[in-house]
Amino acid sequence: MLKLEGVETFYGNAQALFGVSFTVGPGEVVAIMGRNGMGKTTVIRSIMGLTPPAGGTITYHGHPLHTLPSFRIARLGIGLVPEGRQIFPTLTVRENLLAVAANYSHSSRPYNLERVVSIFPRLAERLDHLGRELSGGEQQMLAIARALMINPSLLLLDEATEGLAPIICEEIWQGLTILKDRGLSILVVDKNIDALLRISNRCCVMEKGRVVWSDTAPFRAFTDQVKMRYLGV
Ligand code: ATP
Repeated sequence: MLKLEGVETFYGNAQALFGVSFTVGPGEVVAIMGRNGMGKTTVIRSIMGLTPPAGGTITYHGHPLHTLPSFRIARLGIGLVPEGRQIFPTLTVRENLLAVAANYSHSSRPYNLERVVSIFPRLAERLDHLGRELSGGEQQMLAIARALMINPSLLLLDEATEGLAPIICEEIWQGLTILKDRGLSILVVDKNIDALLRISNRCCVMEKGRVVWSDTAPFRAFTDQVKMRYLGV
């Protein structure tokens, strides 16, 4: 459904992605791993049209994405949870969610305010609080909930749990597992290797702008050697 083929992406003259290819099938969770600066965020930015690729192709259900502006890509059903969350700090949780949904009210797919907050019950208690009053973990839950309000069929998460307390991370992984079980496709970047191996159907490891290693669940080939070599753990 999402297919990257030979994607080459640049920041000015500096090439960040070199022939990146992988797919995310319907209902699949695909994880992208790699040390800092290896190109994970650039993959997400390339898919979303924020840093459009200069070479290769990205298609979603057969539609070419690499020629579209970001808002059109979102309208095709791709929801982004960006690194750093970027929620609206001076709007309430309810307003953060409804502000996004207003642009997508034509959609007949399954997410609305009640349903997204049922995935993250902490948000239900915080509906009338301002975005800036939430903890980091609650803000991340809000960022995920907000992305769901566009009724995506594919969710992109850049650093799903970065900097969050373990108990909150667990709630986020639980929420993502609920979404997976409901058939949502997910492409997720994170540093928590164990959580990624638990939730994913496939993992891609990146090094210096290339996918250098990949495996499908149950990840028998994901050995300590792979971890040491590509992830430094
Ligand atoms: P991290 O885990 O630190 O977020 P990453 O794997 O997501 O790292 P990217 O952010 O995609 O890596 O960066 C890939 C390469 O592109 C790095 O060499 C980085 O320095 C470079 N890069 C990223 N953003 C820019 C930018 N705005 N301008 C120039 N170079 C950039």
